[in-house]
Amino acid sequence: MVVAMTRTLAIANQKGGVAKTTTTASIGAALADEDVSVLVVDLDPQGCLTFSLGHDPDQLTKSVHDVLIGAEDIADVLLDTDDNVTLLPATIDLAGAEALLLMRPGREYALKRALAEVAQDYDVVLIDCPPSLGVLTLNGLTAADEVVVPLQCETLAHRGVGQLLRTVTEVQQITNPDLKMLGAVATLFDARTTHSRDVLSDVSDRYALPVLDPPIPRTVRFAEASASGASVMRGRKNKGATAYRDLADNLWQSWNGADVRTYELEI
Ligand code: ADP
Ligand code: MG
Repeated sequence: MVVAMTRTLAIANQKGGVAKTTTTASIGAALADEDVSVLVVDLDPQGCLTFSLGHDPDQLTKSVHDVLIGAEDIADVLLDTDDNVTLLPATIDLAGAEALLLMRPGREYALKRALAEVAQDYDVVLIDCPPSLGVLTLNGLTAADEVVVPLQCETLAHRGVGQLLRTVTEVQQITNPDLKMLGAVATLFDARTTHSRDVLSDVSDRYALPVLDPPIPRTVRFAEASASGASVMRGRKNKGATAYRDLADNLWQSWNGADVRTYELEI
């Protein structure tokens, strides 16, 4: 499959535990299964995406950190994974990138510049942002064409969403005028309760944020997968994996000219 140009999607929410990393890994694996060439970028110093794709951050000698500070060429840092996505890995070194980058002019553009060197090799680039709105997330949003916000449908999902949307607006005004907010990805969704729907409608009304179709249900498989360093998508047919495949298909069709499908909340 080919798209006319590389599509770069950032997955961002400064709240931890909302399934940013799970969403990045799952959409990436689902697209790769359809023979889309995918690069995933781990921008979190915790390296959870790197770990979940089968690479131990503690064993790596170079990472996205070296790329951002200009010490390594991006092509020399990329890793293959069993999920058939290419990974730009993170290590704990990245925790120091915030401080190092802060002293540099054009610091928000470091990832964008690096990705430009390899983008022609990929149909899709997915950026897993860290749980903060610092210079790393600014790099992710500056390098992206589009951004989605995973929202946990359980408690206080709206906390911080306003701040994130303000950051996106500032990025649109300053470093990336073409950045498009696609909407929310509803995660840990429980269709059996009205609570999930109430949380979602509250957030989407409050911030006029569309919810992408479909929501991602809670499933125990995800916790098992991320703890074992194996992808949630591999070899398993659970409802979470199916939902991520449908979401990946929705995104893929939108990149090929369709309108992105949104989830209609029934209250
Ligand atoms: P973030 O990157 O936003 O911090 P993660 O993707 O690491 O969030 O997810 C946080 C935790 O929630 C992980 O333990 C993950 O396995 C679990 N999780 C994510 N999505 C689901 C899901 N649909 N069902 C059950 N657990 C999930
Ligand atoms: Mg994460």
